[in-house]
Amino acid sequence: MKEKEFPPFYKALKSFARKKNTLWSTPGHASGHGLKDSPAGRDFYEFFGHNLFLADVSSSVGELGSILEHQGPPAEAEKRAAEAFGADITFFVLNGTSTANKIVFFATVSPGDLVLVGRNCHKSIMHAIIMNEAVPIYLTPKACSYGLIGPVDFNQFMPASIRAKISSSKLASNKKAAKVQLTVLTNSTYDGLIYHADKVKATLAPSARFLLFDEAWYAYGAFHPFYEHRYAMSPSSKRRLPVFASQSTHKLLLAFSQGSMLHFRQGNEKLDEQGLVEANLMHASTSPFYPLFASLDVNTQIMKDSGYELLNKALHTALRFRRAVSRAHKRYHRSGEWWFQVWQPSKKLELDPADWQLKPGDRWTGMDIKPEDDYILDPLKVTLLTPGVEPDASMTNFGVPACVVSKYLQARGVVPEKTGFYNLLFLFAPGVSTERTAELLRILHDFKWEYTDNAPLSKWFPKIYEEHPEIYGNIGLADLCRKMHVQLKKYDIMRRCATLYTHLPEQAVAPHKAYYGLSDGKTEYVRLQDAPGRVSVLMILPYPPGVPVIMPGERFPAADSPIMKFLHLNETWDNLFPGFETEFHGIKKTWEDGKVVYWVCVLNKTKKGKAA
Ligand SMILES: *Cc1c(COP(=O)(O)O)cnc(C)c1O
Repeated sequence: MKEKEFPPFYKALKSFARKKNTLWSTPGHASGHGLKDSPAGRDFYEFFGHNLFLADVSSSVGELGSILEHQGPPAEAEKRAAEAFGADITFFVLNGTSTANKIVFFATVSPGDLVLVGRNCHKSIMHAIIMNEAVPIYLTPKACSYGLIGPVDFNQFMPASIRAKISSSKLASNKKAAKVQLTVLTNSTYDGLIYHADKVKATLAPSARFLLFDEAWYAYGAFHPFYEHRYAMSPSSKRRLPVFASQSTHKLLLAFSQGSMLHFRQGNEKLDEQGLVEANLMHASTSPFYPLFASLDVNTQIMKDSGYELLNKALHTALRFRRAVSRAHKRYHRSGEWWFQVWQPSKKLELDPADWQLKPGDRWTGMDIKPEDDYILDPLKVTLLTPGVEPDASMTNFGVPACVVSKYLQARGVVPEKTGFYNLLFLFAPGVSTERTAELLRILHDFKWEYTDNAPLSKWFPKIYEEHPEIYGNIGLADLCRKMHVQLKKYDIMRRCATLYTHLPEQAVAPHKAYYGLSDGKTEYVRLQDAPGRVSVLMILPYPPGVPVIMPGERFPAADSPIMKFLHLNETWDNLFPGFETEFHGIKKTWEDGKVVYWVCVLNKTKKGKAA
């Protein structure tokens, strides 16, 4: 590429770095010179290379404009990104989509405002709710027999449904309100389900003032016709609702970690741009990392020049992988052997969105799809199902829990994005090559052979084998899978997951009030079995399935409720299979007499002895 065609900020930064500058400004390493006089510093400098240090300059360099004030080359870079991604305004956010989401809240939401958020939102949304003292009303994701996280039913976007939710909210001060201030949806969901964004926008228009699609995993919708109408900045819908999209350019595109873009399209109701500028300033460091900003500028150029080709290649690589796994499944199935299945429609799949649509009555989805629902599965997010679960959430006699497969893969240097009870998620980002795909297939086959041989656990999981010889001493890989599956079947775990979100816990206080309990010293830890009736201070989020079961300010339900039973099951599971513990946010684990005990943080009881 010719230098004069470089994207604007990258070009300016590179040209500045190449000059012989003497910097009397921050950063103190002064183009790396400061690092050269100590052994650790020298190694650090050499490892990253001198260009990085030449490009790590202070915001006082005039010719590079101003990132914070959106002037000069940074402003040009953001303007080009807005054009490429279909936005009116784009800001580059250097602290990830976590921060982009908070910026949207600070620009649109005031204390006491109602916000409508998917229960499957990222935790940064709850952080923003707390920081803005907003009152959340939840949209519930569809239950899925395979323990995946469904999208929100389309009928929950209808004005009548939203009015009903507002009027039954314990915390809403105006129960007759017809509108919420902001609605937040995760598009695509973690498992790759994509909304028909244009339909959602039109349906929500009477009931929300602003809409945010959290597209952390889906920054590429604008660049391939496969995704037409199905991304936030899609130009094809009428401009009614003002819409934001927050995208982690670093997640499935090619920026440095933390590089995100925040896009905005105006609607009928105008947002004062200055509000967005101020909200951004409130969250940005005054010392932006220029190479990170440059990586976002370069990503715009990459997507302008070759976005379609990159995506098309990734889509075809994913398709080939999906077909290869399915073919192997057919072969094994014929000889009565088990193999992984891909979570996808069972017909021959081409790159036609109609092939990837979830339709009512489709058994493969494991979900109750309604005629008005309109989602497609993104071919780039590949979920493999391990044996053990039927499409109706009942459990078969034979099963291979995914946590064992996942641990094996990691022992072989392969890291899946997410591991459920009987599923594993692999992301086919543009960087995935055919060679890497072939390697993954080979290692999955290796797992099957090791399973068939009942390989000793010492071979693949030496650490947990050594730490718990009493549990793992004399068993092999297949034995372990069997033992775990028997236990999960006894728990009826998939039905339990499917009912986790059907009854949301009572909202006792707004999330920020629960949070302020921490700074006011009004909280305590109690054991899980003593939690029913108490108000949670923290979000309780188990992985899997990866959706919060309790939000801050919500009351722990009765001991026999699906949520409490699920939490207890995990406590027993941790004790049965150390090394394969469920990961949690919001639960403190301690060890007593060699046993794991769960603790949760709750608000103190009030004087009357009532919880909060
Ligand atoms: C990862 C993620 C975020 C946060 O993005 P970062 O860029 O890591 O800060 C927000 N929302 C969703 C849905 C995510 O998956």
